[in-house]
Amino acid sequence: MSDQAELEPVHSSLSHPARRILIVGGVAGGASCAARLRRLDESVEIVVFDRGPYVAFANCGLPYFVGDVIADERTLLVSSPEMFQARFNVEVHIHSDVIGIDTAARTLSVRDIQTGDTRTERYDALVLSPGAAPIRPPLPGIDLPGVFAVRNIPDSRRIRSWIADRRARTAVIVGGGFIGLEMVENLVHRGLSVTVLEKLPQVMPPLDPEVTVPLMEHLIAKGVGLHLGDGLARIDGAADGRLMVVAESGASLPADLVILAIGVRPETELAKAAGLQIGSRGGIVVDAQMRTSDPHIWAVGDVVEVPDVMTGQITVLPLAGPANRQGRVAAESIAGRPTHFRGIQATAVVGVLGLTVASTGASEKGLRRAGVTGFEKVYLHPGHHAGYYPGARPIHLKLLFSVPDGRILGAQAIGLEGVEKRIDVIATAIQFRGTVHDLAEAELCYAPQFGAAKDPVHLAGMLAENVLNGDMPVADWLELDRTGALVVDVREPDEFAGGHIPNAINLPLSQMRERYAELPMDRDIWTCCGVGQRAYFATRFLAQHGYRSRNLSGGYATYQAISTVGRTR
Ligand SMILES: Cc1cc2nc3c(=O)[nH]c(=O)nc-3n(C[C@H](O)[C@H](O)[C@H](O)COP(=O)(O)OP(=O)(O)OC[C@H]3O[C@@H](n4cnc5c(N)ncnc54)[C@H](O)[C@@H]3O)c2cc1C
Repeated sequence: MSDQAELEPVHSSLSHPARRILIVGGVAGGASCAARLRRLDESVEIVVFDRGPYVAFANCGLPYFVGDVIADERTLLVSSPEMFQARFNVEVHIHSDVIGIDTAARTLSVRDIQTGDTRTERYDALVLSPGAAPIRPPLPGIDLPGVFAVRNIPDSRRIRSWIADRRARTAVIVGGGFIGLEMVENLVHRGLSVTVLEKLPQVMPPLDPEVTVPLMEHLIAKGVGLHLGDGLARIDGAADGRLMVVAESGASLPADLVILAIGVRPETELAKAAGLQIGSRGGIVVDAQMRTSDPHIWAVGDVVEVPDVMTGQITVLPLAGPANRQGRVAAESIAGRPTHFRGIQATAVVGVLGLTVASTGASEKGLRRAGVTGFEKVYLHPGHHAGYYPGARPIHLKLLFSVPDGRILGAQAIGLEGVEKRIDVIATAIQFRGTVHDLAEAELCYAPQFGAAKDPVHLAGMLAENVLNGDMPVADWLELDRTGALVVDVREPDEFAGGHIPNAINLPLSQMRERYAELPMDRDIWTCCGVGQRAYFATRFLAQHGYRSRNLSGGYATYQAISTVGRTR
């Protein structure tokens, strides 16, 4: 790939003929690129092509339009061709499918979808932001009426009409990721009975399995069917117009409509045909200025591969934030400004029937997949605000950090309140290459209804510090079945009687000072309590009395979660 300095400048003075910047795709990446470029350079001609009927619409709002939370479709239209023209002097052609790129002649072939006419458009610089298409596996019945994917406003409109016209009562959603769960929320909101069919034994595949347990329990409690660990085999049409989703196991799930939400595939057909370099993850290869292997072509958004700053690996991340940032970077690069995209860390959030699920940075399974070693983790379940103020709700939080330097590697959290705020704080700390010490020391706003003087963010940092400085050695949950350690549950007897780790003995923290001598000095002691705090106190006490003591981080709450998904690595 060429360096920026090797290129002729794309911008020109007002006295020269305008340079033509063409953009394919006028939504997240393409629209932000066009608007930014105009702010940087009044002299260039900017033309956007989109094959759809709209430009700059809110695709993130589509599930809520299906759910009738957003009732008026026009609300989803963030902008229009007329507004782009009037406000930015950007020409937008909708219903315009770009069907070919001639890189030698620097031209595009554009087909007008309404008239069928094809024309040629010249460019000096080209930006590709065609996004990613929902995956439709070539399985029997995948194209039956009533089987939908959600990508644009017409898709959502079709789903709304289908629900209304057929008086749909049941839906199967194939795929339990972000879009699948947003569709769960919205179809439940519309009164449908919903079942999720998911190939993995968990929902929200980007998260570590044990973290998703409160989410799965929540879904079940809200009446959502979870059919996990089973893939889609085919969809049959029934005589009564209903559908039957058949899983690989042979299980049959009846439905009035089916939503496919099993991921997206970068739309690279144009790029491939033009000979642009495509990477191992199936996206267009770009440099830090978002320039492709052709020095006159940039690419942004769901279609590109990007470096994951946490693992160093190349990945694809179909999220709106990165697409918008990349659009700006491409515009700056085209305008000749120094700029670079620094990579992604996968910060994301989803709301599911009142529960918030958010994450940033690497997951434990992601780190292991990338071969990263030398990290530790803590689990905690603090209230989202001070316990004495009414209405505190637990946040289930997992923090991953490197050892011994304490650099934050990732965090995942689930709860009813205050989840995204904590993940955003940790995400920002990661961007500044922060450590767990920074979290422990963070100065955050506090009043009882919003947080605590020791906020969940502080507690996560402090727990991790305790692990790093040896004050709270943690036991590995995944070793529980193999260890010869004595598990000591330090909760009160009534709590212990309500459920405990098999083979654990009960020695309440309140009796520890009188009775600790009952514990053997020649065995490792793993302490456990409800959520980890009393076990930490016990660990400290025992360590200072000569015991080899470790804390089972997150306590019995974490044990139950891990047991639900299986203690395998
Ligand atoms: C239902 C749904 C919900 C989502 N929710 C969230 C969310 O809550 N948070 C989040 O961060 N992200 C969310 N996303 C993802 C986010 O919308 C995308 O990551 C983002 O829009 C990608 O931007 P893009 O510019 O790469 O592609 P897009 O925004 O998809 O735009 C691509 C455009 O290019 C057009 N196009 C493609 N090929 C051609 C061609 N050959 N000629 C002309 N036009 C072409 C397409 O018609 C499309 O309009 C959601 C996505 C969906 C579908």
